[in-house]
Amino acid sequence: MHLNIGPRSTVTPCCHFDEKVDDTSADIYETPVSIVNKSPQWHKIQKQLMSGNKPAGCHKCYEDEEQGIKSQRQYAISRFGDSVTEREIKSLELKLGAKCNLACRTCSSDSSNKWLKEESLMWFGNINKDWIKKKQSLSGWTSNSDFWDELHKVSHNLEKITFTGGEPMLIDEHFKYLGWLSDNGYKPQLDYITNGTVPLAKIQKTLDKFDNITMTLSIDAVGKLSDYIRTGSNWENLDQNIRDYTEYFKSRGHHLDISSTVSVLNVSRLGKLARLADVLGIEFSLNFLRHPDWMCILHLSEYGREYVVNEISKLDGYISTKNMKKMYDIVKFFNTENNTDLDNMPIWRHILQREIRYNKVNSNSISLAKVDPEWWDILIREPYVWK
Ligand code: SF4
Repeated sequence: MHLNIGPRSTVTPCCHFDEKVDDTSADIYETPVSIVNKSPQWHKIQKQLMSGNKPAGCHKCYEDEEQGIKSQRQYAISRFGDSVTEREIKSLELKLGAKCNLACRTCSSDSSNKWLKEESLMWFGNINKDWIKKKQSLSGWTSNSDFWDELHKVSHNLEKITFTGGEPMLIDEHFKYLGWLSDNGYKPQLDYITNGTVPLAKIQKTLDKFDNITMTLSIDAVGKLSDYIRTGSNWENLDQNIRDYTEYFKSRGHHLDISSTVSVLNVSRLGKLARLADVLGIEFSLNFLRHPDWMCILHLSEYGREYVVNEISKLDGYISTKNMKKMYDIVKFFNTENNTDLDNMPIWRHILQREIRYNKVNSNSISLAKVDPEWWDILIREPYVWK
């Protein structure tokens, strides 16, 4: 009843499902979306779930539950109930290809075509046009009219659609699909994860047609550091967009929040973002990056961690108590087990290596040392001690 379509055309029962242990994956270039859900492998999983058994590919959810964390599976049950008897799709997650206008430092070519040249340099030492073309073609399914025609056939029971990317707001075809839903009297809940770079004016007419929208703005810093991490964005424009979205979402009673990916690039500078969320009166949340491993904050030495904790302590009184608590989650996270892979290269060298590759294949140039010299100084001076 849930279907997840990835940026490069793969279809799985859910974004948490582990295809390596239970191969149910299909490709929408080969199998129409109305057929996937009815395949024998999917039928097997649906039967297992309905009879209370645990499909192997669902292990991540069961592991979360064992650790007391509310799993994706439990969220779905509380939203849709657990007495599913028919095989209609009620919830759909569309990662609308890898078309994106940014090349965020924490992302990769899996989700953004803007990363392809840089990664080609990394993998092949040159710009491998054939590889780039092949990767791009896999994310071209969003412009395939057959896909959308097929989707219409399974849309009548949809209660919720999640759009991510790439950047969903750049995909015209999904706006046409929303127009079709509205024209046919369908009004599912819409969930978006967006980089917020598309101005509200460009999408408002479509959003106006729906009554229940939640939107998460992925923002990792303010000012020049935001321009650096969300590579290709411009803070002045982004700041204006955040304010426009806030006003609109509040006036329509929709939900808007800011979610920030915590990495070694921004961990000491999140206070200003928390403050912005406070001023605008919107939710702010942190999600801790674990991959690539070296970018995870668990790889900071004691010296770097002390600096971060000190910066957090200065936020008392500057941000709300609620957001202060979230900032202290960073300190708690420092005490969790580091089970990411270690390598022999210091963090600053990883950062520099990426910058060199980016600067080779793009007309603008980026440098963390320039946008946050104080933090850069900490990174290059910190003793290189893995935990
Ligand atoms: S906006 Fe999203 S998809 Fe685009 S580069 Fe950034 S993280 Fe990746």
